[in-house]
Amino acid sequence: MLTPFYTGCGAYVLAAPKSPSRVGARHYCNIRPISPEQLQVEFVTILELSEYVGDAGLPVRRRVGFTVPVSSNRNSALASRRRINAHGPERILAKNPKTAIADIQTMTMTKNTTPILPEAKLKLVSAAEPVTGVIVSNDSCVRGKSASFVRHTEIDISGTPLENNCLIGQAFGVIAPGKDEQGKPHKVRLYSLACPSSGEDGAGKVISTTTKRVIEERTPQGKGDDPDDHRLFLGVCSNFLCDLRPGDEVKVTGPNGKRFLLPVNRDQHDYLFVAAGTGIAPFRGMIMELLTSPAQPSSSEIHLLMGAPFTTDLLYDDLFTGLATEHDNFHYHTAISRETQADGRPGLYVHHLLDQRFDEFSALLGNPRTIVYICGLAGMQSGVFQTLARHGVADGYFTTKSPLADTDPDDWDLQKVRRAARATERCMVEVY
Ligand SMILES: Cc1cc2nc3c(=O)[nH]c(=O)nc-3n(C[C@H](O)[C@H](O)[C@H](O)COP(=O)(O)OP(=O)(O)OC[C@H]3O[C@@H](n4cnc5c(N)ncnc54)[C@H](O)[C@@H]3O)c2cc1C
Repeated sequence: MLTPFYTGCGAYVLAAPKSPSRVGARHYCNIRPISPEQLQVEFVTILELSEYVGDAGLPVRRRVGFTVPVSSNRNSALASRRRINAHGPERILAKNPKTAIADIQTMTMTKNTTPILPEAKLKLVSAAEPVTGVIVSNDSCVRGKSASFVRHTEIDISGTPLENNCLIGQAFGVIAPGKDEQGKPHKVRLYSLACPSSGEDGAGKVISTTTKRVIEERTPQGKGDDPDDHRLFLGVCSNFLCDLRPGDEVKVTGPNGKRFLLPVNRDQHDYLFVAAGTGIAPFRGMIMELLTSPAQPSSSEIHLLMGAPFTTDLLYDDLFTGLATEHDNFHYHTAISRETQADGRPGLYVHHLLDQRFDEFSALLGNPRTIVYICGLAGMQSGVFQTLARHGVADGYFTTKSPLADTDPDDWDLQKVRRAARATERCMVEVY
């Protein structure tokens, strides 16, 4: 049973002990304060019976969440406890496994729009003992001549623990050969998967990423560096990866990341994917997984908002243009920042496009089914958050505390957003 106990701050808080497994599932109850007045209550049920595994063959994690008021009044606290009990494992455990699962599904569908994420396997291959992958292909993925060099890199990882164990949204590590300036082996660099969870080959044996060469002029990085040295600086791992040819070997690790994932119940949600540069990598895989799945293409509304400096820098443009033609529920929007728009207005970043054409996105963003994914440069996150707040649709995607909570969104900046905005479970952010 759930037991109320009295805390030092004068409020009743409710706690649930771990329940024994009776339906082949593990239950956890997390209760945390989200404001002085409210507690977030979340039941997490990890279903481990063989018939309740997700697409990737992993146990399914289901969440049921809601809030109850914190109260210094015993009766009110007991009312909250009754509410928790009405949803809690006690009720679920009383039924047989199949009914229990259906109950949880119904609850999550009707009462909750929190995405249910699959349980991702993590770090099966460590940096200390990387495995060897073999390059399958390494082709340019920009259209024609572009100022940047970006390649779609496919790696055969068959026979390694990574085979069939990576979920789209996760990243994998690459270790470049050789030593760094301190004479130590190069550190792992992470690269987002750009293919569906079933890989490029449909069998989980070939993974891919989108690799951008880091090419800059040298600048002093520390004391003693020559300020007049402005020769080219070539990023170690990105250039190593981009140089590889089919048949070459590469040391890989991972997988990494457990939150930036597609939900288990794909059709229960609609999607806004916002990307700039190589931030498109996970969205290529996610959109392919949603639309080109051999089982059944998703019927959800899917919008991709892709930013690039020039039209020639748009990555996988032909793929997305083709998918938008084939699927009425897929909408491909591009924001080009350094070219004048067709109507003569100046170029725009992704958040400007969201702002200027908000009417096209308002129904999507106002729908509690929608999940927003943001991937790419850190600055893009603050721009998107500002735009959502300015149009009054931030609720559900992120929460703010002081100083953001008391400031006009037009006055927000990257530092403040980093410090005082927190993405909710309906907003997944991966910026680097
Ligand atoms: C979760 C995650 C996913 C990622 N996914 C991708 C992806 O899909 N595709 C992708 O391309 N990248 C991705 N990255 C970034 C990637 O991990 C690497 O950081 C990137 O490729 C650069 O690595 P590098 O070894 O080439 O550069 P490094 O050699 O590590 O250099 C990194 C930076 O150091 C600076 N620097 C160092 N020395 C100097 C100097 N003397 N003068 C001037 N500047 C200097 C430069 O600004 C340079 O950009 C991801 C990162 C994360 C965290």
